[in-house]
Amino acid sequence: MPGVYISYPFCAQKCTFCNFASDVYSSELQKQYEKALLDEVRSHSWDWPPETVYFGGGTPSLMRVELLRELISAIPGRDLREVTLECAPGSLTGESIEGWKTCGVNRVSLGVQSFVTEELQKVGRRHTAETVRNEIAILREAGIRNINIDLIAGLPGQTAASWNESLQWIARLDPPHVSVYIFEVDEDSRLGREILFNGVRYGATRVPSDDLTGELYETAVARLSQFGIDRYEISNFARPGFESLHNLKYWKLEPYVGFGLDAHSFNGRERWSDPDDLREYLDLGRKPGQRTRTNAGEEHFFVGLRLMSGIQPTAEEWTRFREPIEKWIGLGMLEREGGRLALAPGAVLLSNEIFREFLDA
Ligand code: SF4
Repeated sequence: MPGVYISYPFCAQKCTFCNFASDVYSSELQKQYEKALLDEVRSHSWDWPPETVYFGGGTPSLMRVELLRELISAIPGRDLREVTLECAPGSLTGESIEGWKTCGVNRVSLGVQSFVTEELQKVGRRHTAETVRNEIAILREAGIRNINIDLIAGLPGQTAASWNESLQWIARLDPPHVSVYIFEVDEDSRLGREILFNGVRYGATRVPSDDLTGELYETAVARLSQFGIDRYEISNFARPGFESLHNLKYWKLEPYVGFGLDAHSFNGRERWSDPDDLREYLDLGRKPGQRTRTNAGEEHFFVGLRLMSGIQPTAEEWTRFREPIEKWIGLGMLEREGGRLALAPGAVLLSNEIFREFLDA
């Protein structure tokens, strides 16, 4: 069953590591965007009733509850199994959570990134571990137990000891879902640009080495598993039954439609996206971007192998990709069990290199 993604790209601050199409915009642009977004959702012709909705961004927890309600009301069908709202710690109150619940929100994803105050301040975040503890208590009191915590490995100043402190907080707070991302050095974030051009701002010189960041990631895999939160996708970990139903659609190549800035859509055959520039999005009159046909075989490997349960290649795919499959099985990086093919647990950090070989094979 399909999913819906809605982008709300407004933030209280721009974090130094962030490479999303989000920012601090004027209230005038925010107003225009909200109208355009609502128009886009309302004018969509739905081929199917969705079962999941994901509000991402940006910081959708800053959205007015009335807008959230209007957006959800514009989506057909009332059998939504999962409605996720991404939240920045420090923006939750008992009142806002009650409002979200009346709109149907039943899952909250907290962009915590780190529980270490010094690391948070360095990247421009204002919350502390205590903020997160208090807000999780309010969420649970309000009956929202499906909670995700995002962490980032590779932030300036991070060490094995400080990473362990963050993981200790996970043990204490016991969320059923955790996402662990590795900081990406690219030109789309201020910190990434600083590193690429040998700058020193934002703690650029204190970013851990690739080797240390890899170790932090592997430590998280082992510790989270001890807590009963197992890896089911390269960056995602959950207690059984708490895997993100919406995000699973991306890796299982199920259809989804995206609305708003830089939102992507996929109908099983083609992909398209909205502009990633706010003014361009507003100017376009919400026309969807150009459609590109997908290459089903490549995507099955490139996207599906991100799941630890792997994929079930078709007979044609076993033949077409025989060479890279045999190579990576021989090197112990892929594992075959019956008709399934999966990344070996120790091969995850090399996954991009492995996936590349399935492109144009
Ligand atoms: S990391 Fe989250 S809160 Fe920070 S700028 Fe990016 S979208 Fe906004």
